[in-house]
Amino acid sequence: MERYISKLRKKGLKVTPRRMAIVEIFLTNTSHLTPEEVWSQLSKEFDKCGLPSVYRNLETLEQCGILTKIQQFDRKMHYALCRTEHDHHHHHITCVECGRVDDIEDCTFSDRKTIKGFKIVNHFLQVNGICEECLHN
Ligand SMILES: [Zn+2]
Ligand SMILES: [Zn+2]
Repeated sequence: MERYISKLRKKGLKVTPRRMAIVEIFLTNTSHLTPEEVWSQLSKEFDKCGLPSVYRNLETLEQCGILTKIQQFDRKMHYALCRTEHDHHHHHITCVECGRVDDIEDCTFSDRKTIKGFKIVNHFLQVNGICEECLHN
């Protein structure tokens, strides 16, 4: 939790009870969640908790690298907790069976400046797979 608090502070963002409660929800969940799922858990703790404010807080937490966006096949945006110790550029792998999300520390693109004559400006990458646990069950 300390790690996430310092990440917010580093970006000059307020450590609000709601933001902390959202991080808490993700800490107890290895899977990705939709804003609606976060909202339904959050409403148990906070009386007045609108879905738009959940959307905004998720967006803020994503921008400071605490959460990561996961694109699912239902075309909705899902969020997952970024559990890596480091701040450097990396990607995520998600299990198509159970939804578990893990960090991939190495990026093959980060050392490359060009591909086929294109100067790389940025890239987005999400790897889908089946986790060890799901493979053996
Ligand atoms: Zn799995
Ligand atoms: Zn990368």
